[in-house]
This record gives sequence, C-alpha cells and structure tokens, in this order.
Amino acid sequence: MDFAVPENIVTDLEQFKSFLNGHLEPHLNTWYSTEAIPREFFRELGRAEWLGFSQEKEHVVEQSAFRQAILFEHLAKLSPGVAVAVLVQISLGTAPLFLFGSEGQKQTYLPAAIRGETLLCLGNTEHKAGSDVASISMRAEEHDSGWLLNGTKAYVTNGAISDLALITAVSDPEAARNSRLSMFLVDLSSKGISRRKLKKRVWIPSDLTRLSFDNVFVPEESLVGERGRGLQQVLATFNQSRLPITALTLGTAVGAFEQGLDRAKKREIFGRKIADFQAKAFEIADFFTRIEAARLMVWKASWSKDEGKDFRMEASMAKYLTVQIAREVGLWAADLFGAASVMQDHPVHKYPMDAWASSLGEGTQDVQKLIIFREIMKK
Ligand SMILES: Cc1cc2nc3c(=O)[nH]c(=O)nc-3n(C[C@H](O)[C@H](O)[C@H](O)COP(=O)(O)OP(=O)(O)OC[C@H]3O[C@@H](n4cnc5c(N)ncnc54)[C@H](O)[C@@H]3O)c2cc1C
Repeated sequence: MDFAVPENIVTDLEQFKSFLNGHLEPHLNTWYSTEAIPREFFRELGRAEWLGFSQEKEHVVEQSAFRQAILFEHLAKLSPGVAVAVLVQISLGTAPLFLFGSEGQKQTYLPAAIRGETLLCLGNTEHKAGSDVASISMRAEEHDSGWLLNGTKAYVTNGAISDLALITAVSDPEAARNSRLSMFLVDLSSKGISRRKLKKRVWIPSDLTRLSFDNVFVPEESLVGERGRGLQQVLATFNQSRLPITALTLGTAVGAFEQGLDRAKKREIFGRKIADFQAKAFEIADFFTRIEAARLMVWKASWSKDEGKDFRMEASMAKYLTVQIAREVGLWAADLFGAASVMQDHPVHKYPMDAWASSLGEGTQDVQKLIIFREIMKK
C-alpha cells in the first residue's frame, strides 16, 4: 500500500496554488463584500483547464477523484464559498450531462461548460422536498413536442449566475414512486422563469437562488437521460459529488485549524501564549489527529472510485466524519479569536458557518447514516 501522493498530482496542486494566488486571492475580500463571484473567474478556471478539458470530441470533466479531492481541499481552505460554486459547475451542472446526456447534448453544451463560458446549476430541492428527493412536486406536462414546467426550486447554488439548469420534475405522476421523475436541461433565460437571490449567511460569496417556473416551455430534446429515471439520475449525481463536497468540508476544517493554530501561537494571555496552556495544546493535537483521519477516509473513498469500486459507503462515512470534525474545529478556531471572531469580515468567521452548511449538500448527516446503515446490512 502506498500513501504517497503521485508526482503529477503534486505538480498539479502547485500549479493550482499559483493559479489561485493570481486569480482568486487578490479578489477575495471584494467578492466577500459584494457576495458575488464574477463570471470571469469561471472563464479563467476554464482557460487553465481546471474545469476539465476537451480533446477532439472527447470531454473530460474529472480526471481522477483523488486529484479532485486534493485540489478541492486546497480551494476550500482559502474559501469554502468559492469552492462550492466551482463544485456546482463541475459536479452538479456539468457531470450529469456527461453521465446521462445524449451525444448531441454533450457536443452542444460540454465544451462551453468546460471552458467556463456557460455556467450550469442543479435545481432539485423544493420547499416540501429535500432529503426525500422522490417527493418533489414540480410538474412537467407534455405540450406541443416539448414540456411545460411549473413549480419552484427553493435553493439553487449558482442559480443567479447560471445560463442553464438541470431541473427534476414529475413527468409521470401515475407511475411508481421511483419512476415518476425526469431530468430536464433548461435555459434560464426562457419565458416564465423568475429568479430570486436569497439572503444567506453561509458559503459566501456563492449565491443561493430561488427559481420559479410558470408555464415554462422546454423542447423535447431538453430531456436529459431517460424519461422516468430522474430520481435515479439525481441520486447518482449526488453520489458522485459527495466526494468533492467532502474534500471541500475537509478544506473548511483545515482552513479553520490553521487560523486557530496561528492565533494560539501568537496571542498572549496571562503572560503566556495560548498554545502554552496544556488544555489548548491537547485540543490542537486532538484536532490535528482527527483531521488527518478524515483526510485518509476521503483519500480511500476517492481511491475506491478511481479503481472503479463501489465507493458509496466509504464516501458517506468520509462525509459524516469530516462534517463532524469541521463543525467542531470551526467553532474551536473562532473561540480562540474571542470577540473579534464574530465580526463578519474576520477571516475566521466564515468557517463555523460554512462547516454547518456542508452537512446539507449531497445529504445531511442523518442521510449519510441511513446510507451507511443500509450498506452495512447489505454486506
Ligand atoms: C447553502 C445551500 C446550498 C444548497 N444548494 C442546493 C442546490 O444547488 N441544489 C439543490 O437542489 N438543493 C440545494 N440545497 C438544498 C439541500 O440539498 C437541502 O437543504 C438538503 O437536501 C436537505 O433538505 P431540507 O433542507 O429539505 O431538509 P429536510 O430533508 O427537511 O431535513 C430536515 C432534518 O430531517 C433530517 N432527516 C431527513 N431524513 C431523515 C431520515 N430518513 N431519518 C432521520 N432524519 C432525517 C435531516 O437530517 C435534517 O436534520 C442547498 C442548501 C443550502 C443550505
């Protein structure tokens, strides 16, 4: 067994760090205060091939889950909010087209998505349906060689900046629960769509947007994958994006830990550095150890995916553990900064909030436990 990170991934990480140093870090303060990520950033990511690459008619969205985990950990360490916006573009917007799209859809949409010129998001959650995906009520009714969409998607990351959205809707209301839904690719400039950017306190500067559909016509060729397979397709999408969001959560924990450690080494209280109090020294040792354990679980799950093995249980276990640690370490780091930590523009302020949010994407902690339990019972 070899735990060393392959040389090509080490090189990629160094190049990614240097890219972020030039294209992200100088702008982060502005993006946090405007609570928006300019589209140009996605084009820059695309030009540098961080969103995937195209060769002739072949498109590669994710080279390896392991490489992606390492890059997302680093990006989220700097900004979990920017990392989630990039994750949505790659894993929730582009990946379903790659996995389920027709050849025509792939050739039409993937190249511009990979270049960061077309932005995509995924709208599934509704007011009355989150974890229970099958109970969504948005309707898709056949109409003039196409479909009419009606309903509201309550929480859509990148919904304000995207050009296209993958939308789940009930196309076959009389069918069995697992074959009622279909997935559609919708042009967000279509007549009948309204967007409302929500005021949120997590994952700044990404946007969270409500998308409402009032008799929105989409042509027949907007159907993604098979009619009636929307539930399976959206669950498969979450299954593969669970790994990058776990890496993102790991980066959130690492970012918080590094801030806390720095503070503990520098801040003097009662004539000593915080780190010189044994109670705090033990907390530092404890968090460092648990973050490393989480990283090993993320790496193992990614390795399983890259080897073509079933990684469902590993990914859920990794997410469950990483979210727990990120939540604890986020609050711990904020505590070390005392009153300063509650200021919105303080660098540590975002971590506890972003760690909280990371439990919601790709299944809550309870949903992860359900998946883990079901897999245990299967084995
Ligand atoms: C910042 C942010 C970004 C988001 N981005 C997107 C996006 O881009 N696209 C999108 O479609 N959605 C998005 N969501 C929505 C997200 O996917 C849902 O919030 C999530 O699926 C949980 O659904 P819910 O909020 O309806 O909670 P619910 O499903 O109502 O869950 C409420 C509580 O019940 C628990 N619970 C659920 N099922 C069980 C069970 N079987 N057993 C025990 N307990 C259970 C949950 O763990 C939770 O504690 C986003 C949410 C946030 C906060």
